[in-house]
Amino acid sequence: MNLHAADVNLLPNGVIPVDEYENTHVPDVYALGDVTGKIPLTPAAIAAGRKLADRLFNGKRDSKLEYDNVPSVVFSHPPVAAVGLTEAQARERYGDNITVYKSQFTPMRYALALHGSTTAMKLACAGPKKKIVGIHLIGDNTDEILQGFAVTVKMGATKADFDNTIAIHPSSAEELVTMKTPEPECKTQSEPHEIDGGNEWRQVC
Ligand SMILES: Cc1cc2nc3c(=O)[nH]c(=O)nc-3n(C[C@H](O)[C@H](O)[C@H](O)COP(=O)(O)OP(=O)(O)OC[C@H]3O[C@@H](n4cnc5c(N)ncnc54)[C@H](O)[C@@H]3O)c2cc1C
Repeated sequence: MNLHAADVNLLPNGVIPVDEYENTHVPDVYALGDVTGKIPLTPAAIAAGRKLADRLFNGKRDSKLEYDNVPSVVFSHPPVAAVGLTEAQARERYGDNITVYKSQFTPMRYALALHGSTTAMKLACAGPKKKIVGIHLIGDNTDEILQGFAVTVKMGATKADFDNTIAIHPSSAEELVTMKTPEPECKTQSEPHEIDGGNEWRQVC
């Protein structure tokens, strides 16, 4: 039976199912980007297209996009940035072999201000080597901070690699390489001070 592009499966939600190489079930017909229901981000669609072109026309037979550890940001105020597994996903995949580090603080830029938004950061590490499998950030500039750290996650960085990286001070990003105490041992080092009648506090782990 000869299949044509019009024969491509279309799920009720509009998604076209493809395999890891972006093949539809119709030979020589491919789909990528949002329509595949994988990762609906512009750079993911572009990268998938380039990988497919490499495979089809550039002799790279195994060329395909790796869809794990794709960093993403919600450009809210403050932004939310994440790469890798959530803590829950990490626990599901690795069981109790997960170590979590958290930090919550008010960035130094607000030191003299009467109010300022809090930043929170979380690292999920897996196994005895504490491979970094998830980074989750919310706060000022976390959209910019994440890109470089996403590279380290793709490279398989461990907590020791982060610990061995000298901090840039003063910055918010330095919190990611200075976290010391894992949850649940993590104790809140309260440094509360009254701001606008409420408590601002800093937790360092
Ligand atoms: C409001 C909004 C904000 C976003 N912000 C971001 C962001 O900040 N960062 C980010 O990375 N991603 C963002 N995205 C997601 C991003 O836009 C998509 O992931 C990306 O455009 C996917 O590219 P694509 O080529 O798969 O699909 P599209 O860019 O949607 O391209 C599909 C094209 O196919 C055309 N088309 C559809 N049906 C047919 C047909 N039957 N025949 C011919 N042509 C057809 C459409 O008109 C469209 O031009 C945002 C999306 C939205 C909606």
